[in-house]
Amino acid sequence: MSYAYDDQNIFAKILRGEIPNTTVLETDHSLAFRDLYPQAPTHVLVIPKGAYVSYDHFASEASEAEIVDYTRAIAEVCRLEGVALTAGDGFRLISNAGSNGVQDVPHLHVHILGGRPLGRMLAKA
Ligand code: AMP
Repeated sequence: MSYAYDDQNIFAKILRGEIPNTTVLETDHSLAFRDLYPQAPTHVLVIPKGAYVSYDHFASEASEAEIVDYTRAIAEVCRLEGVALTAGDGFRLISNAGSNGVQDVPHLHVHILGGRPLGRMLAKA
């Protein structure tokens, strides 16, 4: 079965310039922007420009150029935001997928969270 991508999702609209965003970094294949409802002092979303629903979709089907660009963009945002381990106190990288992952926007994004201690990875259900 193939991955179904809905091009009416909010991040597709951001990529088409139909909705504003606060850009942190733009590269050939990736865009990083501030989360509208930040949950930590640093809360940046990094998305590929290509139409991928989730991390597994991207990792399976994206070109090597897209994968390298996206991976390096994430590292660059960590550096720009001062949370990279070269100079900062660290961060958490989250990518939710599907209903069990509680993914609200069906375009691949990683959340980069930092700037305060983030507690344990998962709250007890
Ligand atoms: P997820 O639940 O992993 O799909 O996360 C979606 C994230 O997108 C949430 O953290 C929202 O706060 C964020 N979000 C929703 N709409 C926007 C927007 N227009 N600009 C920036 N972030 C947004």
